[in-house]
Amino acid sequence: MDFYGHIIDGQEVPSLDGATMADVDPFTREPWATIALGGAADADRAVVAARKAFTEGPWPRMGYEKRQAIMHRLADLMEEHADELAMADTRDMGKPVTQAHHDVARSAWNVRFFADHARMSMAEAFPMDTGHHAYSRYEPAGVAVAISPWNFPLMLGTWKVMPALAWGNTVVWKPAEDTPVSATIIGRLALEAGVPPGVLNVVHGYGPDSAGAALTSNADVDRITFTGESGTGKIISGVAARNLVPVSLELGGKGANIVFDDAAIDNAVHWAVQAIFRNAGQICLSGSRVYVQSGIHDEFIERFKAAAEALKAGDPKDPTTEFPLALASEEHFTKVSSYLDTIELDGGKILTGGLGEGWSVKPTIIVDAPPTARVCREEIFGPVAVVQKFETEDDVVAAANDTRYGLNAMVFTENLSRAHRVSGRLKAGTVWVNCFFIRDLRAPFGGVGDSGVGREGGNFSREFFTEPKAVIMQIDQ
Ligand code: NAD
Repeated sequence: MDFYGHIIDGQEVPSLDGATMADVDPFTREPWATIALGGAADADRAVVAARKAFTEGPWPRMGYEKRQAIMHRLADLMEEHADELAMADTRDMGKPVTQAHHDVARSAWNVRFFADHARMSMAEAFPMDTGHHAYSRYEPAGVAVAISPWNFPLMLGTWKVMPALAWGNTVVWKPAEDTPVSATIIGRLALEAGVPPGVLNVVHGYGPDSAGAALTSNADVDRITFTGESGTGKIISGVAARNLVPVSLELGGKGANIVFDDAAIDNAVHWAVQAIFRNAGQICLSGSRVYVQSGIHDEFIERFKAAAEALKAGDPKDPTTEFPLALASEEHFTKVSSYLDTIELDGGKILTGGLGEGWSVKPTIIVDAPPTARVCREEIFGPVAVVQKFETEDDVVAAANDTRYGLNAMVFTENLSRAHRVSGRLKAGTVWVNCFFIRDLRAPFGGVGDSGVGREGGNFSREFFTEPKAVIMQIDQ
């Protein structure tokens, strides 16, 4: 079985105590790789390496243009290694390999975008009428810790790591314990591309009492960027506060997908399916609460059900598979299936779907659930849509906003005024109108409420990964 180590100070290394963990393929339910299992000592030596690279190494000082060139080489290498990277995520978490390839392409684009964005960014000048001149500089913050989840291992990792690098920081990245392999591959490719030793370190391990907790409580880090569950975000936020380390938190969601009577129904059904069944619903942005206006409700339900049942389910490694017969892990399967086990007690009914083979849940649509039901309120993070009927715009806005989350929402309507109006009224970091999952990396990305703190993307990433500095000069003698 192949071994994947930590990447620390330019070397791929085992854990100091030699500990390893088995990496299980959730489709075969067999281990397929052996991973270094890091602890506090490994986390600490990665932070030491990142600090040394930041204070003594060339990366923060080489300038945007040279960093841009190295990062573009990394993106080229990622594209050359697309099959290896895609298959790593597929075997680690059961993502259909065609979708994993899409993630590789978007991840390589993340590298290029943030390298270019940093290179092209402008800073502000503040002409003063006192005989002085003021301007801003954006200095790298220092050592950034990036902690990522398992559902989009490459895409979410690169959203964090690449802006940090582009702005001259050094990084310690801890990928999720269920999806470690692609991070080690990125670490190897970064070294091959010319990223200097210690600039991008990768440490594997668990969260609590393991590498994750050791990294977030380390007083010698300057930024913590985290994507994962809201509960974990609250813990990390508390730990970081003790060291006054700024945190960026991208957390859970319970997205509302609102379909008005005047929606283009083919488009609405297409995106409703993508929004809850792509990646087996293991998407923070999923449209898990589907609200359909009464005039279109019955037709929508019929077509949504037919489209869900038509998805080609199978082995995630098969390029024709649209829906994987595996959730990411046994633990996650147990969590998702618990919602189906109790659905009748909650007052809902399974229209289609239910438990599948192995650790899989079929594309599932629930109807008749009261708004207080667990399936309407909690993040299931699986292929489970709850459909509810509504009458008026005011009703649906109130229902959509009745959640502790606020990551994203979708609106399907052909009425332009309504599209703008409802987008403004929804409590969400992102609203998609007549589409889903489209991202412009210049735009803010993040959530409100329990969905997070801070925004990623373009200048928002710059604000987080730099220390803005004001320089004020006397120009009149
Ligand atoms: P998780 O919170 O269990 O784990 C995420 C990462 O945090 C892992 O690397 C884990 O090892 C680490 N971790 C866990 N406890 C820790 C601790 N105490 N200290 C330090 N690190 C710790 O989340 P998950 O199950 O991997 O991911 C699923 C969750 O992520 C869902 O809630 C989903 O909505 C959310 N998510 C959010 C976004 C977003 O952009 N808002 C994107 C994807 C996923």
